[in-house]
Amino acid sequence: MPEPIVIATWPFGKIAVTVASKLLMQGKPALDAAIAGAQAVEDDPNVRSVGYGGLADGIGRVTLDACVMDGKTLQCGAVAGVEHIRHVAALAKVVMEKTPHIFLVGEGAKWFALQNGFPLETLNTPESVAEWEKNRPKDRKPLTHPGSKEMGDPSKSHDTVTVLARDKDGNLGGVCTTSGLGYKLPGRVGDSPIIGAGLYVDNLAGAAGGTGVGEEIIRVTGSFFITEQIRAGKSAQEACEIAVQRVNATAVRRGVHPARVAFLALDPKGNPGAACTMMTDFKYAVARGDKIELLQAKELGPKM
Ligand code: ASP
Repeated sequence: MPEPIVIATWPFGKIAVTVASKLLMQGKPALDAAIAGAQAVEDDPNVRSVGYGGLADGIGRVTLDACVMDGKTLQCGAVAGVEHIRHVAALAKVVMEKTPHIFLVGEGAKWFALQNGFPLETLNTPESVAEWEKNRPKDRKPLTHPGSKEMGDPSKSHDTVTVLARDKDGNLGGVCTTSGLGYKLPGRVGDSPIIGAGLYVDNLAGAAGGTGVGEEIIRVTGSFFITEQIRAGKSAQEACEIAVQRVNATAVRRGVHPARVAFLALDPKGNPGAACTMMTDFKYAVARGDKIELLQAKELGPKM
């Protein structure tokens, strides 16, 4: 029987893998376990880049993005720019299950959430508002250049939880959920809810997800690029490294290096991989049963 495994982005990914791994051990499907794990991060007000307590856009509104994908059926669902709804990963799953569509945005996504019993709530906390005020760009305008230094330390104003799981039946499932870049222009959507960019999952090719400056991940269709590398015979680790090199190459061509981007992946057998661009300091959590580790991803600079 396949050994369950779940991996998730960043040190707060430990919260997600702890919850998800318990469910996988009970025999729950990969996607359900991954969503439950992601939801524990959405609920944590101390994680300032996901769900409740997430960082607001340039005019102070917390808008969330999420997507989910089932590796067995390739069914997927996504929502973006959703205000006042906390559990957007679960909402993306309802889009997947109850509609003929894949992607709902903004007000439509919010109405759909209300029709399906999700509560309306404020996602600001006193701490998130204070942090938003303290670190906001000096000119008090929304960001014009993603990941730019206008907003002080960019590593403090984003980070997505991406959770990739393989269950006891050997099926893969994945989730990506985020409040996106802090101080983003109102209406901006990053890679996280875009199937193929922030997440892609196919039992036959593996699961992959991204975090970091979403514009750079969308530009290379990061997650689909990785699963296709695995499908073509690369390991999950090699595939993540090739994707990081692709990001580096495109960033150099546009004169914006270093782009802060990280990827993680699972191959169909459940072997993990991860890599990131320079100065991203990307750590990811891995759980196999009760064994939970925080690993450092390999950093790769551009090949000159
Ligand atoms: N990828 C996310 C976005 O661009 C942010 C992050 O993961 O740091 O919205």
